Amino acid sequence: MQLLDGKAVSAKIKEDIKQEAANFLKESGRKPHLVAILVGNDGGSETYVASKMRNCEMVGFDSTNIRYGVDISEEELIAKIQEINADPAIDGLIVQLPLPPHIDPEKITEAIDYRKDVDGFHPVNLGRMQRNLPCFIPATPYGILLMLDHYKIDTAGKKAVIVGRSNIVGSPMSILLARNTQPGNCTVTVTHSRTQNLREEVLQGDIVVAAIGKKNFVTADMVKEGAVVIDVGINREVSDETKSGFKLYGDVDFDAVSQKASWITPVPGGVGLMTIVGLLKNTLEAARGTIYKN
Ligand code: NDP
Repeated sequence: MQLLDGKAVSAKIKEDIKQEAANFLKESGRKPHLVAILVGNDGGSETYVASKMRNCEMVGFDSTNIRYGVDISEEELIAKIQEINADPAIDGLIVQLPLPPHIDPEKITEAIDYRKDVDGFHPVNLGRMQRNLPCFIPATPYGILLMLDHYKIDTAGKKAVIVGRSNIVGSPMSILLARNTQPGNCTVTVTHSRTQNLREEVLQGDIVVAAIGKKNFVTADMVKEGAVVIDVGINREVSDETKSGFKLYGDVDFDAVSQKASWITPVPGGVGLMTIVGLLKNTLEAARGTIYKN
């Protein structure tokens, strides 16, 4: 088994981004600028946004975190998004999910200008991705592609099985791996909670992407010998073993599955770090106007 090492790969790509951000500053006189809106105080969301802001700083971007209480109305949130859409000093905008139940995440996603949608969730970006046109690719699937590319994992003609069909991970991942490009050209199966004989389906996978949200859900008996296993899951459990008071677990039973896999991502230290890289790359592209002209 070989490790798909998110720590090493993300560090290397972030060095490149830092250099490119410095070039951008020299040419334009300003830094790429990402704004993250956080509503409420969900522990996981707080950690993710703090990490995104910290990483922006590390690569020489400006970053702004706008925080609201859970009682902000949908109208107020949309008004703020529209203000940011119109602000030429802001390149990228993300609204951290999940949102409180009275706010419709679809409306919020569509309110963001697709040219600033560095999370890649807007229907314009998803539609363009499906057609293989320049667009912002959702950060997690983008990070996974960068990882596969870095390790030169040959995906052409392989059978990929995606477990989970969410709008932010499973579904875009299935589109990306089926596209006529490298990484891509896979024969893709998307599985979900209504899939029958899930074990048999996952066993077919030369590449398995697990994005379910259930600790150690993918077990060794579900994985083919030699498969490439990508674990997207981040399951937080209270723990007194760590400084933060939480321990993270993936959706894959790493200890057992790593005995069979040819390549595997650890949790932590895998896809989570690559997601940040996907977001940073999208923000840099938004600032440069290379995908959509500024
Ligand atoms: P969602 O909850 O949106 O989707 C989960 C998917 O898993 C659904 O499609 C669901 O099926 C499917 N599922 C649930 N139970 C089963 C089951 N028993 N058998 C088969 N399929 C099942 O999750 P996300 O995609 O947003 O996130 C998945 C995991 O990835 C979470 O742990 C999340 O924290 C993590 N994550 C990590 C990121 C990173 O950067 N590493 C980024 C984003 C997410 P159905 O559609 O039928 O309900």
